[in-house]
Amino acid sequence: MLQTPLRAIAAQSVRRLATPTSTLELTGDAPKGLNKTGTPFTAPNSTAEYALARLDDVMNMAQRTSLWPLTFGLACCAVEMMHFAAPRYDMDRYGVVFRASPRQCDLIFVAGTVTNKMAPALRRIYDQMPEAKWVISMGSCANGGGYYHYAYSVLRGCDRVIPVDIYVPGCPPTAEALLYGVLQLQKKIKRKREAQLWYRR
Ligand code: SF4
Repeated sequence: MLQTPLRAIAAQSVRRLATPTSTLELTGDAPKGLNKTGTPFTAPNSTAEYALARLDDVMNMAQRTSLWPLTFGLACCAVEMMHFAAPRYDMDRYGVVFRASPRQCDLIFVAGTVTNKMAPALRRIYDQMPEAKWVISMGSCANGGGYYHYAYSVLRGCDRVIPVDIYVPGCPPTAEALLYGVLQLQKKIKRKREAQLWYRR
């Protein structure tokens, strides 16, 4: 008794699969702002620009999926940075792996209070990192001095000595916030147009 309705439903499903879907569904343009291909470079003007845009896509993908930050913690924020590396958030799954030498790194988390005494060392470490390199400033202290903004010994923001790409607010920011900062950095790297800009120069 049950088999007949089931068979009818199955036949209906097969008929629906066999019927071609509307042209709109197959060839319709993506809604404005939504990029179907995953690349931000969708309107090249020539074949050369197209090739360079794809080269940029490949380079950007390689860089954003293998961010290697320096093992470098300055104060309490560093504990949240370690938390981000621990199994619960597991930064390795994004290709983010701590390295012990600035010469092997392309990312630095400024995690904690930067004192005036530490500032030259921070700058030297940054200079030792090879290009291309990025900086995530983590926490109120690194962003602008935080609680110690008026202290005589504290730098009022690490961006006074090194350029910062992403600021993560909070005191301390949670590991989730840092993870979000890394995702924002990956988004930023995705839009890099080095090859295309080299060609236009
Ligand atoms: S922002 Fe807060 S948690 Fe981070 S280093 Fe400063 S005082 Fe410590």
